[in-house]
Amino acid sequence: MNLKEYCGIVGIYNKSEAANYVYLGLHALQHRGQEAAGIVSTDGIQFYEHKGCGLVNDVFNKNSISSLRGNVAIGHNRYSTFGDDSIANIQPLFAHFDMGQIAIAHNGNIINANRIKKKLVDDGAIFNSNSDTEVIIHLIARSQKTTFFDRLTDAVKVLKGAFSLIIMRENEIYAIRDPWGFRPLSMGKLDDATVFASETCAFDLIGAEFIRDISPGEIVVAGNEGVKHYSNVFDATNEKKCVFEYIYFSRPDSYLWGKNIYSIRKRMGEVLAEESFVEADIVIPTPDSGVPAALGFSKKSGIPFDFGLIRNHYVGRTFIEPTQTIRHFGVRLKLNPSKDVLKDKRVVVVDDSIVRGTTSKRIVKMLKSAGAKEVHLRISSPPVISPCFYGMDTPTKRELIASSHSTEEIRKYTTADSLEYLSIEGLKKVVGETGYCFACFDGNYPVEFDRE
Ligand code: AMP
Repeated sequence: MNLKEYCGIVGIYNKSEAANYVYLGLHALQHRGQEAAGIVSTDGIQFYEHKGCGLVNDVFNKNSISSLRGNVAIGHNRYSTFGDDSIANIQPLFAHFDMGQIAIAHNGNIINANRIKKKLVDDGAIFNSNSDTEVIIHLIARSQKTTFFDRLTDAVKVLKGAFSLIIMRENEIYAIRDPWGFRPLSMGKLDDATVFASETCAFDLIGAEFIRDISPGEIVVAGNEGVKHYSNVFDATNEKKCVFEYIYFSRPDSYLWGKNIYSIRKRMGEVLAEESFVEADIVIPTPDSGVPAALGFSKKSGIPFDFGLIRNHYVGRTFIEPTQTIRHFGVRLKLNPSKDVLKDKRVVVVDDSIVRGTTSKRIVKMLKSAGAKEVHLRISSPPVISPCFYGMDTPTKRELIASSHSTEEIRKYTTADSLEYLSIEGLKKVVGETGYCFACFDGNYPVEFDRE
């Protein structure tokens, strides 16, 4: 079984104390992965690495950062539900091969990795981790081509699924997005340095200027000869950018695929209000993910916005906790209702999504026990009915409440007075009709899952 990677990646080429910048970039991308973090740097001769489990702040300190020498560095935040926290699985993965050294940071999920791995193992390859990313290193090392670039393209052309990659060699960095463009990857500039990151909020923190998104199927190389772009490596295919990046994953201050996440989410809330207005006294968000949509809902409906739930920012995202028992407890750990705001009110509570339904049920109960007269649940995305195979961390189909329950059944389960989701048409009205993967909402998988 492979680890499902939903992660943040950063790379910087040609900057003194490169690891410091990558460390800051990982901080900005902490929301994309809280389980483990790592940085590999190079001074052009040697590679230096430091990795560990936990938040960026737990993993790195002044000494570990200063041991990461050189002007080139890449980093990775991991978010995985599989729960194998062995150090070998923490990225960037780093290896020696006949052309020197290589480090790789991957965001996504390679759906044919098992099949590729089996072939490689039958052929005598030895794997160090159970991450799907390691197959890329093997494919590069085993290619018969004479240049690194040709070996790299040999390797990535075999892969199916989601892969935004940052690959480092002694004197260059490669940034790659799969031809479907499932996961984000942007390019920026900081003085003479080239920077790559999953989201533009990482550029803001280090003072880099956003240049553009890497295009689906594009390879960008930052090296001694400047920055080069290759866009004819993969067979042409339709773009399938993950729409859930807009709904939940990305930070609201990031700009993704030409749009600001905050504005997009606010707009989703507006359309949701158009579709499912209800008479109420206040609109409150589930903080933090529901805030922009709740603002949009309030604006469109004319119902005043308020904060009825206060979030404790010092507990991590509850979703990362492995067992249902802890997750139940987790919602209470994270959110507390404001009785003064809620008492005797008809409340619209806006969240970005319902996955298993656990959070919504807890929240409705919390709001009612704090004195809310009515609780109307509004969700700024359509029902999640199908699991994701492209790097989004979703449970199995059976665990997705909307895969087997109608909206009315879910309403009953959550004990809300009403429940409405944003329609798929409404979502498309906001993001656009085409160019996105909507598989979690409609079950249409753009790249077939390889079950072997
Ligand atoms: P659940 O309790 O399983 O229904 O989870 C719903 C909550 O999880 C919502 O408040 C979302 O903001 C959040 N959420 C949705 N998708 C994900 C994801 N892939 N990873 C972590 N949290 C998520």
